[in-house]
Amino acid sequence: MPPEEHTEAKPIKTDDYRVTPGKAVDLKDFATRYEGDMDRDEAEARFEGLVRRLQRLQELLYADGSRAVLVVLQAMDAGGKDSTIRKVFGPLNPQGCRVTGFKRPSTLELSHDYLWRIHAAAPRKGSIAVFNRSHYEDVLVVRVKGIVEKDVWKRRYDHINDFERLLADEGTAVVKFFLHISKDYQKQRLQRRLDIPEKNWKFEVGDLAERARWADYQRAFEDALGRCSTDHAPWYVVPAERRWFRNLLIASVMVRTLESLGLRYPRADFDPSDIRID
Ligand code: ATP
Ligand code: MG
Repeated sequence: MPPEEHTEAKPIKTDDYRVTPGKAVDLKDFATRYEGDMDRDEAEARFEGLVRRLQRLQELLYADGSRAVLVVLQAMDAGGKDSTIRKVFGPLNPQGCRVTGFKRPSTLELSHDYLWRIHAAAPRKGSIAVFNRSHYEDVLVVRVKGIVEKDVWKRRYDHINDFERLLADEGTAVVKFFLHISKDYQKQRLQRRLDIPEKNWKFEVGDLAERARWADYQRAFEDALGRCSTDHAPWYVVPAERRWFRNLLIASVMVRTLESLGLRYPRADFDPSDIRID
């Protein structure tokens, strides 16, 4: 692509949001709300540019055909996974981007190991898969609610790292986003689902029981992020309370991830100037 398209006025320092591999995570060290000096108009204008770039990179990913991208989205309830998917991934070509939501496992899914349904939804070469929730639920909700014993969920961090290593070794770039919000912000967002009649359907009384275990969930997230952020499958902690910044940061990481893959258009096995179309 033309080099001038690489010039970004002030590139977002995406590394500031990346969890350092091997480092323990304290979520209190990570902002839930962007407080830098960029304003919304500027962020939205830059976001538009990144989306266009992402669209072209997606086509290149398909043309190249040797690599794939897996995007994992995790958040507390009302953390903004749905709107992230709509805003950041909505503009992509649906032929090469598949979103899979992972809900409570079905009887069939429960009769297999917990990565079975996950692996089946991994992206094929040339495409992008977005996971709305993921295998991380098996060390989050499953741990907090005690659905399996501690000795069972404890060994899953190693399984997960090995699984993501397998995907990476076989050509899939894995990138993971935790949409970080405060407990107060979650309250506002849940209240909104009560106040706006068209949003009532999104409110689940059961979410309040999860909210009551906020601290347990934060601890479970800290372990998942700290133990499973690797060079080949990094976690990003996204300040998610200003959605325009959230979108900009995720789009920036996506562009960088795709640009790092060394994608190439396949060389034609003919000389185009030899061919005449009558
Ligand atoms: P929204 O935020 O819009 O409500 P959602 O992602 O919460 O969307 P729901 O259908 O409300 O979608 O919730 C899916 C539920 O499935 C969550 O409560 C999640 O914790 C649960 N879940 C996902 N994976 C597992 C798993 N492996 N074991 C147990 N529960 C799981
Ligand atoms: Mg829900």
